[in-house]
Amino acid sequence: MSYDLIVIGTGPGGYVCAIRASQLGLRVAVVEKRATFGGTCLNVGCIPSKALLHASELFEEAGHSFAAMGIVVDKPKLDLPALLGFKDKAVDGNTKGVAFLMKKNKIDTYHGTATIAAPGKVEVALADGGAQTLESTAIVIATGSDVARLPGIEIDETRVVSSTGAIALDKVPGKLIVVGAGVIGLELGSVWRRLGAEVTVVEYLDRILPGMDGEVAKSFQRILEKQGIAFKLGAKVTGVDTSGATLKASIEPAAGGAAETLEADVVLVAIGRVAFTEGLGLEALGVEKDKRGRVVTDHYFRTNVPGIFAIGDAIAGPMLAHKAEDEGVALAELLAGQAGHVNYDVIPGVVYTSPEVASVGKTEEELKAAGVDYKVGKFPFLANGRAKANDQTEGFVKILADAATDKVLGAHIIGVEAGEMIHECAVLMEFGGSSEDLARTCHAHPTRSEAVKEAAMAVEKRAIHM
Ligand SMILES: Cc1cc2nc3c(=O)[nH]c(=O)nc-3n(C[C@H](O)[C@H](O)[C@H](O)COP(=O)(O)OP(=O)(O)OC[C@H]3O[C@@H](n4cnc5c(N)ncnc54)[C@H](O)[C@@H]3O)c2cc1C
Repeated sequence: MSYDLIVIGTGPGGYVCAIRASQLGLRVAVVEKRATFGGTCLNVGCIPSKALLHASELFEEAGHSFAAMGIVVDKPKLDLPALLGFKDKAVDGNTKGVAFLMKKNKIDTYHGTATIAAPGKVEVALADGGAQTLESTAIVIATGSDVARLPGIEIDETRVVSSTGAIALDKVPGKLIVVGAGVIGLELGSVWRRLGAEVTVVEYLDRILPGMDGEVAKSFQRILEKQGIAFKLGAKVTGVDTSGATLKASIEPAAGGAAETLEADVVLVAIGRVAFTEGLGLEALGVEKDKRGRVVTDHYFRTNVPGIFAIGDAIAGPMLAHKAEDEGVALAELLAGQAGHVNYDVIPGVVYTSPEVASVGKTEEELKAAGVDYKVGKFPFLANGRAKANDQTEGFVKILADAATDKVLGAHIIGVEAGEMIHECAVLMEFGGSSEDLARTCHAHPTRSEAVKEAAMAVEKRAIHM
């Protein structure tokens, strides 16, 4: 079989690249080794974790905040198998949606494991037996990532779990230790805390959410602590004793010192993810990888081997579904002779907890390190009418603008629906907008988004409701 493009992997990078290429008239095939399409994101990542976050948030609200609004319900009871079924339904609907899109766009699909035998040639070990050789002008590596492991700690996905095991626990753990205070650890830690687990997060660094704005991270940590999550920062888990009925995790200060033992029913290892390219045959082809195992590409997603391209978690950059998708679109357009492009300065990041944390662009720490002179405008949800009406006043909006030009360089929000609100800042930044542009844009009342406008007004110290 001969194609213009073969995409290996159908995560958000791969399937989106295939659809865009097909829209542009290329003859496209995808190869996927999982039984279902959609990659990490749809099968064991974004989608199932968000379904669990949604259901567990409502469970907690029903138990805690309904009464204050005059809604009297019996204490909610947890039906965990049904809650996991709700999550599985979300996964099923989404992965089937991708299968439909493959058909709709006339993309040939192969279920099996792909190896690149040579530039222009892909061998597929088919899932139902046999092999198939495919030929193509261009081959895209969109094989994503896998969980990062801690040396000496074996993940069994029942008691010592990665995110994959943590979205499928068949019992609420009495005590859960989360190793790593990144997005995935805090999201899944929040899910199980809401469902009744006692959660302790152990983080090597002296802060949570490395890479996010420091003030936002500090404030968010206080909110999570108030919700009942305990943090051990500047500490590392050096081993987990699984011999008894209760797990015993050894924890040492990162700076050195006496170890302590923490007991737990489940330990979730959430220290990050690593690029996955195993079995593709890249070594034999001489495809260059960096020290972290990521495929090295240029600005046009080209590897050092002509005809072989790479996108998504398998290459450098934030490991986010929408970053992978945008790279998929850009590469398809480049392959079709258009001017595909990704603006890496405007990629939003969201933590889907309650409240949410969302950011786009530079943090204060990054601006300081780069020696950029900047102004800050902040506005708390406590002073926002809609937030007060809904009694959801935690958090604030922070806008960072260039001191000389007023161009918005970064936006950071903690608050309910922050993950939706961040996008007006992203659009503004795509157009090189200023804090004044945002401040002079009429915002509907009463909305939480008015806090974004007020934060932009606060850049020039003219917020109204503060
Ligand atoms: C718990 C969790 C929650 C997350 N939540 C979010 C979120 O809310 N928002 C967000 O933006 N990101 C989130 N992510 C990250 C997101 O899932 C990834 O950034 C995204 O899936 C990367 O897409 P990708 O296309 O590069 O690769 P992947 O989605 O990893 O897909 C790669 C695919 O390639 C296939 N494959 C690999 N090798 C071969 C081979 N040799 N032959 C055939 N097929 C192969 C794999 O089976 C897989 O299906 C989350 C991740 C996790 C684990």
